[in-house]
Amino acid sequence: MSLHRTTFLDYALGLRLLLVALGLCFLASCSKDEGPPRHLLLIVIDTLRGDALDKAGLAAMGLPAAEELRTFARKGGLFRNAFSQAPWTPPSFASLLTSRYPSTIGFSADGLAFGEQPPRIREEDEPLASKLRRAGFETTALVAGGQVSSRYGFDIGFDQWLEVERTDGSDIDAVLTEAQSFLDRNRDSWNDSRFALLLHTYEVHGPNTHHDLLRDLGEDCAGIDSFKTYDSGIVLPKEFAEVEDMEEERRKSRCLYLADVLYTSRRLGEFLNRFERDGLLRDTLVIIVADHGETLFERILAGRGRMHGHHLQDELLHVPWIVVGRGIQAGTEYDELVELIDVLPTALELLGVEPTPNAYQGRSHAKILRGLSSDSGRDIAFSEAPYQGMGAATLRTKTYRWVEMTGGDQKPPDGPRGKAWWDAIKLPSTGFFGYGPTRKEKNLDANNHAQKIAKYRSQLEHFRNENLRLRRPAVRQPSIDESTRKELEAMGYLGE
Ligand SMILES: [Zn+2]
Repeated sequence: MSLHRTTFLDYALGLRLLLVALGLCFLASCSKDEGPPRHLLLIVIDTLRGDALDKAGLAAMGLPAAEELRTFARKGGLFRNAFSQAPWTPPSFASLLTSRYPSTIGFSADGLAFGEQPPRIREEDEPLASKLRRAGFETTALVAGGQVSSRYGFDIGFDQWLEVERTDGSDIDAVLTEAQSFLDRNRDSWNDSRFALLLHTYEVHGPNTHHDLLRDLGEDCAGIDSFKTYDSGIVLPKEFAEVEDMEEERRKSRCLYLADVLYTSRRLGEFLNRFERDGLLRDTLVIIVADHGETLFERILAGRGRMHGHHLQDELLHVPWIVVGRGIQAGTEYDELVELIDVLPTALELLGVEPTPNAYQGRSHAKILRGLSSDSGRDIAFSEAPYQGMGAATLRTKTYRWVEMTGGDQKPPDGPRGKAWWDAIKLPSTGFFGYGPTRKEKNLDANNHAQKIAKYRSQLEHFRNENLRLRRPAVRQPSIDESTRKELEAMGYLGE
């Protein structure tokens, strides 16, 4: 009898221990489907505006341009208030990869000097790929070249860095074909190894090319048959002077941009569906961001209706940030204020990789994404736009934003067209903006907000001083070659 009781007690104890163990397994990592995701897939869609995914923004046109991306985002979280640190590619990418503001890592030179003597990020900056490679990841980048280039040191830490060819304004097919081939080639090793894969495309960057998809965007876009002011992706001052109906230009410009967004969304949707079917999504952290946005005739910047690179307006700084992966709450959109420099520390925490102490200015928002904390994001966000010897900086909260010029030698570049270009570029110099419920910014009268502006100015100065304190000497290369110069000119970065 006693033997029986003992056996029963042993059995009951054993059952309880088993249940406890199963419970612990649920919380920790007892199988490959628990714990941090094994891999990282980081997709950067160059020039994709934040409101392309937002029903209060571009999607308010009622056009299903980014439906596949929105569907994918519902598998995880979407930050609706994410902002890039700069309105053009090199400083924004440098900030994304190093989690530092552009001026602290030498990316605050003026635009022409950028072209002549590119600054570089360094191994010592602990960029994302270096950090992950040391943590045992195989690191691969498949990018569309141009400004996303090894000449800025962006290849540092990558085992493989491939810049694919852009043909007739299109590159996403080439990037995704290479990506699929990379995944297939190494399929047998993904259970025992970790990969970090960076994909980058200029598909929505001008010139916009997918005119055949205009009819899929609904009645508003179906009838557009004249593209002459947009084919270069740039509207020059001379061409702009010939524009008669601004509202019509705005509609055309949006439609042509959205047709490229539609193509990009469909292609990425197909790629990500295959990624999921192949069983990779359940063990991968997928992050999708943009490096900056684009002006679509909201205002005329530098004499152009289509523009990015030099100004600090929201259509240039507001970017999407999607995060999908194990442990992240599905179907959640977040209004917390976040910055692109936060992507790196957030990715490290979600992947279970210890960050290097004091290496980064960004901060992790993993807890927001896991639904584990009352972390309310950032109180303020900062962006800067160094160009042509001047600088501009902006500081925002969720309700207001202040932008101001930040010095420099303030003189036009050399050359016969220097002054015209200079005059076009340098406005607007200061401004105070407010946000309503739709997050659309509104220019406010500075005279009515003097106290608030004083506070924003002082916080901005504090930010700039902190960045000066953290600044390290820029690493520069000799001049760029002629083909790179032509490429930069074609994309509108070196003036005209
Ligand atoms: Zn870019």
